[in-house]
Amino acid sequence: MALTLTCPSCGNTINQVTRSPQIVVCPVCNSTNFLNNGKLEDVGKSAVLTDTPSIFEIYKTYRHKDWKFTPIGRVRYDYGDGYWDEWFVRSDNDKETWVSVDEGEIAIESLVKKGVSVPPFDDVKVGGIVMINRDRMTVIEKNSCTMTGAQGELPFKIIPNESYNYIDLLGPRRISFTIEYQQSSVDCYKGVWVDPFDIVEV
Ligand SMILES: [Zn+2]
Repeated sequence: MALTLTCPSCGNTINQVTRSPQIVVCPVCNSTNFLNNGKLEDVGKSAVLTDTPSIFEIYKTYRHKDWKFTPIGRVRYDYGDGYWDEWFVRSDNDKETWVSVDEGEIAIESLVKKGVSVPPFDDVKVGGIVMINRDRMTVIEKNSCTMTGAQGELPFKIIPNESYNYIDLLGPRRISFTIEYQQSSVDCYKGVWVDPFDIVEV
């Protein structure tokens, strides 16, 4: 289960929280480490993310209606005119998912594993329609972003300052859909925009 890890950059002891993180960011020196066979390997420095006020704090527990969750990791993406944060959270039923915070707007997201036919990035136009399963979704953003900072534990390998293309779609019933065109894979996240006032600290 949880392991005690040693930061390869500063020697700090880090207690692993999730079962199989791929990335662990040292809270002391902010080095971003890839976890490989119980050993951490430094892949670069992350920007410090604790400098701005934030709706969530890592390892605190929050509630949205009946759903309780604890942020255990965070990634910040810069899209040129600003940034947004993706919080990697663990639910009280031990499931792991994502909560996106973009200028105070909050979406609860989940990774869509299969069954989506994704259009090529170059074919997509802002304002255009993309069918995701049976939902008509409107393209509201087409951009690229750069990972500028991370915190805690994350379930995938990220490298500071790496960029990728993405599109954001908006559909009926406040459903959002994000397609990330990564170098090695295309990841889709389905989300629902929620009222930030419905989220309380437990
Ligand atoms: Zn360190």
